[in-house]
Amino acid sequence: MENSKVLFEKSLEKIPGGVNSPVRAFGSVGGSPLFIKSANADHIYDVDGNEFIDYVCSWGPGILGHAHPQVIEAVKKACVDGLTFGAPTKKELELAELITDAMPSIEKVRLVNSGTEATMSAIRTARGYTGRDMIIKFRGNYHGHSDGLLVKAGSAALTTAVPDSAGVPASYTQNTLVAEYNNEDSVRELMEQYGENVAAIIVEPVAANMGVVPPKEGFLKFLRDITLKYGTVLIFDEVITGFRLKFGGAQEYFGVKPDMTTLGKIVGGGMPIAAYGGKKEIMDRVSPTGPVYQAGTLSGNPIATTAGIETLKILKAHPEYYKQIDESAKKLADAYRKMAKEKNIPLHVNQIGSLLSAFQTGEVVDDYDSALTSDTNAYTEYFWKMLDNGIYVAPAQFEAMFVSVAHTKEDIERTCEVISL
Ligand SMILES: *Cc1c(COP(=O)(O)O)cnc(C)c1O
Repeated sequence: MENSKVLFEKSLEKIPGGVNSPVRAFGSVGGSPLFIKSANADHIYDVDGNEFIDYVCSWGPGILGHAHPQVIEAVKKACVDGLTFGAPTKKELELAELITDAMPSIEKVRLVNSGTEATMSAIRTARGYTGRDMIIKFRGNYHGHSDGLLVKAGSAALTTAVPDSAGVPASYTQNTLVAEYNNEDSVRELMEQYGENVAAIIVEPVAANMGVVPPKEGFLKFLRDITLKYGTVLIFDEVITGFRLKFGGAQEYFGVKPDMTTLGKIVGGGMPIAAYGGKKEIMDRVSPTGPVYQAGTLSGNPIATTAGIETLKILKAHPEYYKQIDESAKKLADAYRKMAKEKNIPLHVNQIGSLLSAFQTGEVVDDYDSALTSDTNAYTEYFWKMLDNGIYVAPAQFEAMFVSVAHTKEDIERTCEVISL
C-alpha cells in the first residue's frame, strides 16, 4: 500500500530528512508527515484518502485557495507556448506593472525564483548602492537561507552575529548585526555605533516567522526615520505580507514607505517567483545598468509569471476579498480566545489581516523573547487534535495560520468548533 508512512520511509532513503524543506518533516510535532495528493480551494487531500481544511496554504502563496480555475486555465494555456525561452517576454513587463502599481515605492523591480534570492539580491544591491558592508536584521525574523542571514545574535561581548547553521563561515556573518524586533533602543544603539557603515536594515514589517507578531505602534515609522538619518536603505521583506495584508502589502497597511521591498509567495501565485525592487536610483545599480551582478536562467519564467499575473489580477479586481479574509481570521482568533477562557488556559492570540497565531503563554507576545515563552508541547497536542478532526495547521508553533479567500463560512465555523474541543 502506498501511504504517507511508506512514502516517507522511502523518501528518507533518498532525500535528506525525507523532505525538500525542513519544516515539512513534522520535526517539532513528531510523527510522520502527510504526503499530499491534491488540493482544491481550501481543502487538501493526502494519499491516505483523508481530507483536511488547509490553513498552511503552502506557507503563504495560497491566498486564493488551491487550484483557482482562472489561474490553472491561464497556466495550461501558457505551457503550450513553451516552458522557457531565456529571452524577455511581455508577461514579465505585465507582472512588473502589476507590482509597481500595487506598491508605488517600487519604481523598478527584478524577478527572481525564491524569497531567499530576493532578500540576498536586495541586500547586495543596497550594499552596492551605499558602498557600505554592514546590515541589521532582527532576531526571529526570517529572510530565507542565504549565508549572511543565517545568524543568531552574538554574546553580549560580540556585536556582530554568529552563524546559526553549519557550513556558514564566521567571516560571512561578521557584517550582520542583530537587533530586537519591536525594540527601538536596540536599533538606536547599533545605529549610533555603526550607522555610517550600515547599508541596510531589513525587517519583516509584520513578523510572521516567529509566529505572527505585529509591529508596535510607531516601530516601522521609527525604522523609516532612523534609516533616513543615516542614509541607510530600509528594506521591507514583504515575502509574506505583500498582497496579503492589503493589495499594497504592509507598506500600504501601515503607510510607511521603504526604499526597497522583497516579494515572494503570493507574487508567484503558487509557482516559484519572487521579486525585489525599489527606488529607481537604487535598482539602476543592478546589472546590466549598474555594477551589482545578479542573474537567473529561469528568472521571469513564462509559466510562473502567468500564475503570478492571474493571481494579482484577481486580487486587484476584488478589493472586498481583504475584508473577507480579515473577518474570517477574526472569527478564528475569537474562537481561540473563547476556548482559552472556557478552559482557563493562558493563551495569547495575535491576528492581523489574514495572518494569525495562538501562543500558549501567559505573556503578551510582542517580540521574539515573549514568543519563545509559549508552550510548544501544548502546541504539539493542539496540532494533532486539529489534524484528527480534519484541520491542517502548521506543524510548528512559530509559523502563521494563513486564511484564504477560499475558506468558506461553513469551513471557518467548522474550524471554530474544532478549536473549542
Ligand atoms: C518564506 C520567506 C522567505 C524565503 O522565501 P523562499 O521562497 O522560501 O526562499 C523570505 N522572507 C520571508 C519573510 C519569508 O516568509
